[in-house]
Amino acid sequence: MDGQAFGHDAPFYLPQGDECDIFAAAHASHLPLLLKGPTGCGKTRFVAHMAARIGRPLHTVACHDDLSAADLIGRYLLKGGETVWVDGPLTRAVREGAICYLDEVVEARKDVAVVLHPLTDDRRILPIDRTGEELHAGPGFMLVASYNPGYQNILKTLKPSTRQRFLSVDLGFPAPAHEVPVVMRESGIDESRATLLVRIAGKLRALKGQDLEEGVSTRLVVYAAVLIAGGMGFDRAVRIAMIEPLTDDPEIRAGLLDLVAALA
Ligand code: ADP
Repeated sequence: MDGQAFGHDAPFYLPQGDECDIFAAAHASHLPLLLKGPTGCGKTRFVAHMAARIGRPLHTVACHDDLSAADLIGRYLLKGGETVWVDGPLTRAVREGAICYLDEVVEARKDVAVVLHPLTDDRRILPIDRTGEELHAGPGFMLVASYNPGYQNILKTLKPSTRQRFLSVDLGFPAPAHEVPVVMRESGIDESRATLLVRIAGKLRALKGQDLEEGVSTRLVVYAAVLIAGGMGFDRAVRIAMIEPLTDDPEIRAGLLDLVAALA
């Protein structure tokens, strides 16, 4: 289960289920993959791990609401008085037969979907209008996108026409039996403190939709553990890494601190 155990320099990733097999099968079959799950649940680490295991380069793009098709494909830039074409990360990935990971793809502008469609069906082509090229993706190329279905924003859901082009894997927060070893491995803290942090995380996640928009991520649990490993007191680390990032409301924060005090 250990990334290193495969004999590659793959970053550590502890699988929650059969997602590694699904990823490998999708890559082998030239199919795109959509990872659904809340922020900080391990999606980026998973893709980095699988890219290393499969042995393909990885181009990651953090999507944002200003990201356009041209940012992915490339553009003409003025260099030393000359106009030269510079590939964007998607074009580079297609040319190299690499894995292209579009993190939080729903954030990107609408014209991005137009680019993704011919790449995500059996044509596997990337037309570059500006240069007149039409690139055919080789066998190594794979498109992976992630999406957080938890955000309650009607404008920011993935359209069925795009969603139905991807195989999908649902990656929620890991179960405690998985999260504890992840927190130990990432921080170096002992099992009893990692177990307590994960228990606190479980309680905080149960408040999602009531007091909190989103539960605490594995990333934040790891941050708390790293602070503790570095010598910070347990309560303080929990407050800074696992409570303060969740809310700006003083009353809710006080309630969360009470909840933690009752557990610790
Ligand atoms: P996401 O991309 O879903 O926002 P990340 O992949 O950045 O989340 O995960 C955040 C952190 O959580 C990682 O840096 C890693 O420390 C830890 N993590 C979460 N899940 C796992 C896992 N299954 N195996 C190893 N590390 C994990």
